[in-house]
Amino acid sequence: MKREEDFEALARSAMERAVAYRTGRHPPRPTADLETLRARFSIPLPEEGLAGEAVLAALDAAAEGGLTANTQPDFYAWVMGASHPVGVVAEWLATSWGQNAGTYNTAPAAATAEDAVSRWLLELLDLPRESSVGFSTGATMASTICLAAARSDVLAQAGYCLEQEGIFGAPRITVFLGEEAHATIYSGLRYLGFGDRDLASIPVDEQGRMQPAALRRALQGHDGPAIVVCQAGHMMSGDFDPVGEIADIAHAHGAWCHVDGAFGLWSRTVPELVSLCPGAERADSWAVDGHKWLQIPYDSGFAIVRRADAHRRAMNTSASYLGEAPWGARTPSQFCPELSRRARGFAAWAVIQSLGRQGIREMVQRHCNCARQLATLLREEPGVEVLNRVVLNQLALSFGPGLPEAERNRMTDAVAAHLARQNRVFLECANWRGRRVLRVSVISRETGPADIDFLAGEISAAVRAVSAREYPPGQHRPGSVTAGPRD
Ligand SMILES: *Cc1c(COP(=O)(O)O)cnc(C)c1O
Repeated sequence: MKREEDFEALARSAMERAVAYRTGRHPPRPTADLETLRARFSIPLPEEGLAGEAVLAALDAAAEGGLTANTQPDFYAWVMGASHPVGVVAEWLATSWGQNAGTYNTAPAAATAEDAVSRWLLELLDLPRESSVGFSTGATMASTICLAAARSDVLAQAGYCLEQEGIFGAPRITVFLGEEAHATIYSGLRYLGFGDRDLASIPVDEQGRMQPAALRRALQGHDGPAIVVCQAGHMMSGDFDPVGEIADIAHAHGAWCHVDGAFGLWSRTVPELVSLCPGAERADSWAVDGHKWLQIPYDSGFAIVRRADAHRRAMNTSASYLGEAPWGARTPSQFCPELSRRARGFAAWAVIQSLGRQGIREMVQRHCNCARQLATLLREEPGVEVLNRVVLNQLALSFGPGLPEAERNRMTDAVAAHLARQNRVFLECANWRGRRVLRVSVISRETGPADIDFLAGEISAAVRAVSAREYPPGQHRPGSVTAGPRD
């Protein structure tokens, strides 16, 4: 930006563009294809700088149609939040202030806001109040941070100082995790130096939940340092590993218990749902997202570690040039890998304050009610099968029950393709337990019962359209076939 440029005019222009976007209605799926976006963005490197307003206008025009409308209530794909408006404007302030949240001295207000948010989180999620909290980009990094603390701690228990001796001569650590652990857990473990041979896969049930008896057997036959990774909120079924029980089993064998609770841990804010995740507070570390159910703008995640000393040992950055913080002040870089980074605590502080405990509870409860409402509506629909028991906010759908498996998968893809062409709701497919499934994640801030009625109608219409095309009258119709190879 050129020095003489007026920040006020630029900020107002950005604000007007943002307001136009957020108050407008957009097709939930991007409509611009890769070629179009490339043609707009991949312009020759400018020699001369442009005026700020021209850059802003160019950016707005280039991104047009290339945006995923996850800020809208008709978005059900993956597991994503909607960037709460209060978080967005708090983020504007934070970037305007230009704070570097690496240390207390570089950004005292940011460090103090993080401290306050940490306490709120422990209270909201009812986790041990002595835990330390690292502010990360998301649950992937939050789990990675927690697992780094776990790695250091279980090695220390085995009499090996990782910080002194390094990873290469260390005793082998075995990581026990459910067969359906989230893909990002494997990424985190890889960054930390674990290979496939270090992993022990524990069988899960039809909802994807780790079987505690199988874990107990596996740990009984094991000697040496161990970490157990469990999951609160399965990305297909939304269901929970029996986290408290798993933590007890892990501890009986001297293992560290980490919980991937990216979205599911927020169920602990709702009295009617706390029974889904009993005893989660007995684990040693927890990864949870801010940018999913809490709706904080991207990116926001929290690495929560019961033993702050293990957390610090794994992450601490210290150097004389960074100076000393006042006694008792938070040093953010002790709890995450980065030194310089943006001040994530401000938006988190603003969003939690804007929602309040009641607002968070109401939203999580409403989304779970919506998921059940959708399951009820779809179960009445011939040709649709809800594969999971709907305990949280996730549904896994399959189409053409009774058809041979391959045809059923084809039908599921065809229904998904129809919905994508209509582009009135956004859903995505995945593979689960050897089957193609259409996933529904009810997690967007404003989604409510009327949106779910609309979604159910869209899905039913898609099933009817695909059935009529693929199975014209007189032929088998999905749902009316009496037996397929699988049934
Ligand atoms: C989304 C998710 C992750 C990854 O979180 P990011 O915020 O995308 O890094 C990990 N585990 C579970 C269960 C998730 O749903």
